[in-house]
Amino acid sequence: MAEFELIQRIAQRVRPRADVRLGIGDDAALLVVPPGYLLAVSCDTLNESVHFAAGDDPRAIGHKSAAVNLSDLAAMGAEPTWFLLGLSLPAAEPDWLDAFIDGFVGQLEQHGATLVGGDTTRGPRSIQVTAQGLVPPGDALRRDGGRIGDDLWVTGTLGDAAAGLAGLGEGAAHTYLRGRLLRPQPRVAAGIALRRRARACIDVSDGLLADLGHILRASGAGAEVHLADLPTSQPLREAVPDSVARGSLQLGGGDDYELLFSANPIDRRLIERVVEETGTPVTRIGRLVETPGCVVLDAAGQPFIPPRSGYQHFAGDSA
Ligand code: ADP
Ligand code: MG
Repeated sequence: MAEFELIQRIAQRVRPRADVRLGIGDDAALLVVPPGYLLAVSCDTLNESVHFAAGDDPRAIGHKSAAVNLSDLAAMGAEPTWFLLGLSLPAAEPDWLDAFIDGFVGQLEQHGATLVGGDTTRGPRSIQVTAQGLVPPGDALRRDGGRIGDDLWVTGTLGDAAAGLAGLGEGAAHTYLRGRLLRPQPRVAAGIALRRRARACIDVSDGLLADLGHILRASGAGAEVHLADLPTSQPLREAVPDSVARGSLQLGGGDDYELLFSANPIDRRLIERVVEETGTPVTRIGRLVETPGCVVLDAAGQPFIPPRSGYQHFAGDSA
């Protein structure tokens, strides 16, 4: 099967949006950007053996490739619109491609976005996604908007995907945790609902502490986080009963794809309304403080030092 036929297979599975003048098939896509909006653009790569395993279900790989990019748009408060897909494949495998595209496009459509182009080449299996979305200029949720005294909030629960990666838990708990790793649900509706409500926002992809560190540096603040307040799923509680081990997964484990954001304490009621409007649970986990750095306090009010703090590519390589 030639490159052209593979692209045809992809195009057949795509439903266009009304604002796509020209989609897959020409030298470039033509998109109608509505006046008064900013285009939010982001890109993420998923490599075999690094971000997913060779034997993983292609549908789940497709889902996750879309979801992690949707999550970046969610963290900006942007509405997802037009995606590009760069595929490097070791061989023309129509069955793998069909399942991958179904997972990928299914996620896009669930959040109102569509695929408008890409590139298909032969090579080690790798997926590059460019995500584009729209946001009114004053509404974008940036990392640098946090102020000292802000509440710190997080959507959903933390640590599930890290436990799933480690293969922890049994029976239904194990299945749930693996699902959180392989099929994350990006918080798109919550990101949009947080426009003008959150002050700083990031999606938790590399671990809570690592990603909180980005908000702190950008906003020029420190943070206090309460271990006992971290939102915890029942399956995680079952799979990791020890609170120190569990806290470490929740603070340092990656792949949560929840939103971490700060907001004025005056707006607590406004933030809680996000739950009512979008069905997304939100939990207050701490606050921004003047002292630089992040202090995690355990239930007794003592500093908690987690053994791990976030995934970093190239960590350990010599410069
Ligand atoms: P060109 O050689 O002009 O770059 P290509 O042959 O690479 O064109 O691509 C032809 C068309 O198919 C383009 O519109 C491109 O955006 C689209 N396309 C190629 N690969 C993909 C893909 N993996 N997903 C979506 N669209 C793709
Ligand atoms: Mg090309």
